Amino acid sequence: MTKAIAILGSTGSIGCQTLEVAEFLNIKVKAISADKNIDLLEKQIRKFDPELVAVYDETAANNLKSRVKRVKDINVRIVQGMEGLIEVAQISGTDVIVTAIAGQAGLKPTLAALETGKRIALANKEPLVCAGELVMQTAIKHGAEIIPVDSEHSAIFQCLPHPINHANIRRLILTASGGPFRGKSRKELEKITPEQALSHPNWTMGKKITIDSATLMNKGLELIEAMHLFGMNPDQIDVMIHPESIIHSMVEFNDGSTIAQLSNPDMRQPIQYALTYPDRLPSLTKPLDLIQLGKLTFEKPDTDTFPCLRLAYEAAKTSEKACAVLNRANEEAVGLFLDGKITFNGISEFIEKALKLAQA
Ligand code: NDP
Repeated sequence: MTKAIAILGSTGSIGCQTLEVAEFLNIKVKAISADKNIDLLEKQIRKFDPELVAVYDETAANNLKSRVKRVKDINVRIVQGMEGLIEVAQISGTDVIVTAIAGQAGLKPTLAALETGKRIALANKEPLVCAGELVMQTAIKHGAEIIPVDSEHSAIFQCLPHPINHANIRRLILTASGGPFRGKSRKELEKITPEQALSHPNWTMGKKITIDSATLMNKGLELIEAMHLFGMNPDQIDVMIHPESIIHSMVEFNDGSTIAQLSNPDMRQPIQYALTYPDRLPSLTKPLDLIQLGKLTFEKPDTDTFPCLRLAYEAAKTSEKACAVLNRANEEAVGLFLDGKITFNGISEFIEKALKLAQA
């Protein structure tokens, strides 16, 4: 059972929920990191008493250092920049490193975590999307164990026997809530504002993944993540819309049997599973009441209205370079949309143009 962890991205949605799970399971938090949010970081330092804290942003790191210096009861080492994040990833005395930085910025710290040869509770999916082969090869080279935190991949991991016998699997089925705009037409999506797109029906998450969920790009990134984590090709992975977010994904086997993982939508369940695997301890997640839920529904994804999923399939079938372009263009486009510089539909248009340019 995990005794001590480091968290890359402790101030984010996954990071904060990991701290809740760590507190609940009495796991020591040895090191944490953030980009700029030192107000929350300071509160986390006071509550969890980590040995080491990394702040990526230099000014924020200096501010935190001067705040902490004034308080004699805090005994923590503060480091900064990429080297700081790498120190957090590689601090000695931990059993698990939780990777919860948002976006491609997490690639180097993820590789540093894998180099320790420890267990990685992997939430930060973008490194797998932009450099999946490198990430998986680094894990193999150093004997690191990747346990997915993303709820869909955790579900698939929970449905599969380990080691995986690919000969028995017909396909993986990733479920998707469909996001806040399911059922809308492309014309209706033209005037969607960032505020509307930031309100997800089932999950409370960081900004980038919330927009990715609204465009269905999140499912596209998850498709590529699943390819690498489970050694499947894109034709063996399907996406199904399941608005209730109760079935988190499924595995269909050759004999016609399908195994699914169900739970209330609560990221603390897959986070805890990644920390306690193979054990299943009591958790903060409320058990399911299927009778109260009554029914679960399923639909085909609408890739005409939400082309990002189609683009991700195309990139996945093309090359790792195309996946990296898709990921980079998506990060750029989401930022432009949040800044009011492009429309909601403009996100997929921007990515499609980038993919065409990269192929030219
Ligand atoms: P958030 O935006 O809530 O948090 C991101 C964290 O990363 C924060 O601690 C942030 O620090 C830090 N960070 C951001 N940019 C940098 C940078 N350049 N260098 C160092 N640290 C940085 O994201 P989420 O928690 O929602 O998501 C994290 C990852 O987990 C993503 O890859 C996402 O796709 C994945 N994921 C998230 C789920 C969720 O429910 N939220 C579900 C499944 C997967 P600061 O606070 O200072 O900005």
